Amino acid sequence: MAKFFLRKKIGDRVINGHPWIFGNELGDTEGTAEPGDIVEVYSYNGSFVGKGYINPASQIRIRLLTRDKNEVINEDFFFKKINEAWEYRKKLGYIENCRLIFGEADQLPALIIDKFNDYLVIQTLALGIEKWKDAIVAALQKIFTPKGIYERNDVPVRTLEGMEQRKGFLSAPFDTNIIINENGLKFHVDIENGQKTGYFLDQQDNRRAIAHVVKDADVLEVFCYTGTFSLHAAQYGAKSVLGLDISENAVATARRNAELNGYENICKFDAVNAFDVLKLWAKENRRYDVVILDPPAFTKSRENIQKAVTGYKEINLRAMKLIRPGGFLVTASCTNLVSPEMFLDTIDAAAKDAKRILRQVEWRTQASDHPILRNIPSTQYLKFLVAQVL
Ligand code: SAH
Repeated sequence: MAKFFLRKKIGDRVINGHPWIFGNELGDTEGTAEPGDIVEVYSYNGSFVGKGYINPASQIRIRLLTRDKNEVINEDFFFKKINEAWEYRKKLGYIENCRLIFGEADQLPALIIDKFNDYLVIQTLALGIEKWKDAIVAALQKIFTPKGIYERNDVPVRTLEGMEQRKGFLSAPFDTNIIINENGLKFHVDIENGQKTGYFLDQQDNRRAIAHVVKDADVLEVFCYTGTFSLHAAQYGAKSVLGLDISENAVATARRNAELNGYENICKFDAVNAFDVLKLWAKENRRYDVVILDPPAFTKSRENIQKAVTGYKEINLRAMKLIRPGGFLVTASCTNLVSPEMFLDTIDAAAKDAKRILRQVEWRTQASDHPILRNIPSTQYLKFLVAQVL
């Protein structure tokens, strides 16, 4: 196995447990490695650091899988890691649906697995983990005997690793339109064509956090995707709910979700561009008791953080203008590029411009089946604020 040595003058990030090693952190090499191979990493003075997979085509040159010199990376290793991750989810009560593997936070860098009751959806986002896909699928078959396994590798980040984008079955074919239960509601999930893996499990606990503020309220959910918060609002006693999304497909599924739960009279959905209508509706003096915002990331790169911040400020400002005095804003951000502090500062700036005072009700993050590792700040990506708008 090839050996790679860290440079002397690098920070202590890797030594302190971060699994990523960038190209400019590496010095000497002993032996050769093919892209995707498992290699050993040592510090400049020869002490063992860990084993992981390498990809010369990627800025993140090596991602560590273990810090134990005696641990062998083989099929059993993946079985053990996936089993441990499942035990952890079960312990925390995430049984029917959960993010089973959350990459780095489960010590399986660049691997995502979502479990939707009897179905599993996989993303292998780096070459070194892609190479173990058969072992991962074998482990999933053994642990879950699932009704189906599907690959949603139609993700642009794979091109950074020199891999093609693809999606398809990793088990015998099955009907990829399934129904899941969440918080006593039912939702259609389109595993093949839905966004990301088909459904946003990271908000599953936050959806319950709106229970008190939506009772008897007129609710507007912006960026609603398949209407998950809207349906929760109806279940928790909202008077009326309007959900908006730019995607016709998402809105069609949201309407089917309303019917599935018998809330089609309360929940209405429209396919529109949120930026256009929020501006217009504020001018027309439309008012709501609760506005929910769960926009897309707005940026995928560090260079464009300012663009994301501008986007967050604009929609939050517009939302506040639509909220009756004493009503509530429910607002989220799903990119790790915008830190929790930066997000709160942006909301505060929007409140200042809107000349409104915010009284914080809840400040939350992603559901804990998407664990946060304290030494890898990027594992905390979701911000979720419920605030009264005075
Ligand atoms: N709250 C949802 C997830 C929302 S994801 C849930 O919990 O399931 C963000 C959504 O914003 C996507 O469905 C996307 O189609 C939508 N979107 C992106 N740009 C938009 C725009 N300009 N106007 C309205 N919706 C938009």
